[in-house]
Amino acid sequence: MGTFAHRVLEVSRREFVARAQERLEGGHVLADLRAAHEGAMQREDYREEVERLLGRAQADPCVRLPGSRPLVGDAPTLEEARAALDEEFDAHLSHQYQLVGGRRPLPQALVPHLAREHGQLLGLRRDLGSLLDFEAGALEGFEPRLFEWGFGRGGAPKVEYAGVLLTGTVDRIDVDAHGQVAVIDYKHKSDLGFAREYDAFSAGREQGSFSLPRRVQSLVYAQVVRRAFPDLTVRAALYLCTKGSHALAGAADENIVDLVFGERGVSSKRLPSVSVPRGEAFGRTDASGMEALLDASEEAIARAMERLLAGDIEANPLDAEACQFCPVLNCERRLRK
Ligand code: SF4
Repeated sequence: MGTFAHRVLEVSRREFVARAQERLEGGHVLADLRAAHEGAMQREDYREEVERLLGRAQADPCVRLPGSRPLVGDAPTLEEARAALDEEFDAHLSHQYQLVGGRRPLPQALVPHLAREHGQLLGLRRDLGSLLDFEAGALEGFEPRLFEWGFGRGGAPKVEYAGVLLTGTVDRIDVDAHGQVAVIDYKHKSDLGFAREYDAFSAGREQGSFSLPRRVQSLVYAQVVRRAFPDLTVRAALYLCTKGSHALAGAADENIVDLVFGERGVSSKRLPSVSVPRGEAFGRTDASGMEALLDASEEAIARAMERLLAGDIEANPLDAEACQFCPVLNCERRLRK
């Protein structure tokens, strides 16, 4: 389900940006193909044009592209986005029935058989549709620019991080007009407890102290993006819940927390869990704010990697939740709730 959701999100968001770039340039290749052919988005010539437009949009990601993302009060863009999303959802669903070499199903094919599975698929369509509304009220000033940005794959060099070489894929990179970046990782899981699980700081953290958060993926990706795009400034490392009522979590520079979390805002109680103070050094002497958080995280992960590489692989769960879904049922270190 998550793989399906990622793919539909990727293709639909690329589509929005390509259409906006075409409008900005006064072109009409995509619009003409859509007018002339039903299901034009699946045509090869259409996809090639999307790639070309996207490349130009990414060349200077600070240039604003009206209509490249849904916004509150912009009903026409939301409606167009919904239609494109639905079309891509249907097309991607039909691809699930394709056979590799005419014999084997696609790896991770999502083919519903039971009534429950059909219901889950309906739920997924509803979730991805309502995500458009959620996003319209968040990440103010930011526009999506890079999608499924991979490193260390397909000939791209691996990236050194915490003393090891990494490969990975960043779900989405949003950029504002000033070159500020929000790195976004999609999570297709319940919105219940999402913030508690994915916010960067635990409640009651003392200023100046640092400990690795439960979840480090977006912090790792943010550091990789920071190094790969030195002309941009990473200001947020986020997780976007694509399910249910949706949620945003993670870490954001204190000056853009309001913009990132948008119309739903962040309660004063939760604010210390997501806000990265500009003057906070996280135990470092060479940086502050978001940069210090990313460096401190990498340093702590490097120490953990060193221990692992030295053979210290003893189970050491953070808390009972870490063991909740672990399949090692006979583990002596399991922490029960
Ligand atoms: S049950 Fe054991 S192996 Fe599984 S997460 Fe907990 S400590 Fe680790």
